[in-house]
Amino acid sequence: MVKHDPFANATKQVNDACDVLKIKDKGIREYLAMPNKVLRVKIPVKMDNGKIRVFTGFRSQHNNDRGPYKGGIRYFDPEGGVQYMEREVMALSSWMTWKCAVVDVPLGGGKGAIFVNPKKDKLSEGELERLTRGFAYKIGEIIGPQKDIPAPDVYTTGKEMTQIMDTWSKMNGNKYSPGVITGKPIPMGGSLARNVATGLGTAYCVRGAAKILKINLKGAKVVLQGFGNASTFAGEYLEKMGAKCIGASDSKGSIIVPNGFKVSKLIEHKQKKGSVVGFPGSKKVSTEQLLTTKCEILIPGALENQIDAKLAKKLQCRIIGEAANGPTLPEADPIIYNKKIMVIPDILANSGGVCISYLEWVQNNMGYYWSFDEVAGKMEANIVRGLKDTHDISKKYKIDMRRAAMVLAVQRVMEAFEHKGIWP
Ligand code: NAD
Repeated sequence: MVKHDPFANATKQVNDACDVLKIKDKGIREYLAMPNKVLRVKIPVKMDNGKIRVFTGFRSQHNNDRGPYKGGIRYFDPEGGVQYMEREVMALSSWMTWKCAVVDVPLGGGKGAIFVNPKKDKLSEGELERLTRGFAYKIGEIIGPQKDIPAPDVYTTGKEMTQIMDTWSKMNGNKYSPGVITGKPIPMGGSLARNVATGLGTAYCVRGAAKILKINLKGAKVVLQGFGNASTFAGEYLEKMGAKCIGASDSKGSIIVPNGFKVSKLIEHKQKKGSVVGFPGSKKVSTEQLLTTKCEILIPGALENQIDAKLAKKLQCRIIGEAANGPTLPEADPIIYNKKIMVIPDILANSGGVCISYLEWVQNNMGYYWSFDEVAGKMEANIVRGLKDTHDISKKYKIDMRRAAMVLAVQRVMEAFEHKGIWP
């Protein structure tokens, strides 16, 4: 077995939430933790050189008590091999269940993957398309607009989503079926606001948290770790809400601009120079200095495992909006909680993407498309409610926001399960 087991972590989180909710029944705990189904498929592909190569793919369907399964498809080759990938996909499908439940979108949790690294393996466009369509064919029976709706993830884009939609439509009597997948390009039935969704969602969460903590966003200082899709849009929207960005980083280094910077100017600089480093008026600092700078809002938006116990003790912010997945180590959580810093946990802070995916699916189902403002407004309503509900639970049980979000999600799935029961 692999050394670090992501599915064991996911199961532990479910059990922790069950402890808070006093769910003692082992059968119910197992029901909540285990995926409903994990499909493993063999995908033979005719390569450009005429030889056959066989790939392995998975689709894990964790829970659909609240609606069809929902979750990305990644093309990746994790270190632990195919066996590890299966556990990872199971864990990721579990987290999707909780992410959807926390923001109350009526969808369940799923995740898919093919063990392949398209960049390292240098697959041609044709090979990649045959692989994608082959996978869509193999999982075709278990996905569908009312069954399981995949989306892009690591190393997959709107292009692969379009190929999956087209394959599935052809397998089903040539019915135009955009709702079988989300994250599609706009002309293929995609939604407006999808590209900014995660960062915009993080900004909405932060605005909600600032309101709870009575922090005036006007002039509030923001530090952005990572200057990619999630954090730049979080920064841009927080700026529109009146905040001032003073720090940023990327893989080449971290900077502080004491008087603040315009996000659009830093984007321009990064486009020209390839990094945020060297921005006029900035000073270069270490990652630790960046993360522990005095500010109101810290957005870890790059990598996992950035805030450990040692760093947590030095934090000087009031709100942490986890745009990235898993940026805080479990050992840091109690320290941050005792410092009265409000953490908006990843499953809530970066749920903008899945909210817009849900809205894309709704638009596909009704065949009518909303404006950017309509989509963004609907997402805001879900996210702000998710934040408020999580905060209420955190107060009620005197637990940190991360545990509270899981408790809220498990409670919501349990409610649906109790209505539905077991059949057959
Ligand atoms: P991205 O590739 O667009 O940006 C990542 C940024 O992080 C880049 O600017 C990169 O230079 C920077 N970076 C890399 N190593 C770094 C380091 N050591 N220190 C500081 N910065 C570093 O990726 P993204 O889509 O913005 O994703 C970032 C995080 O957000 C990931 O954890 C991802 O899982 C999460 N997330 C993203 C989305 C989304 O829709 N984009 C949705 C949910 C979660």
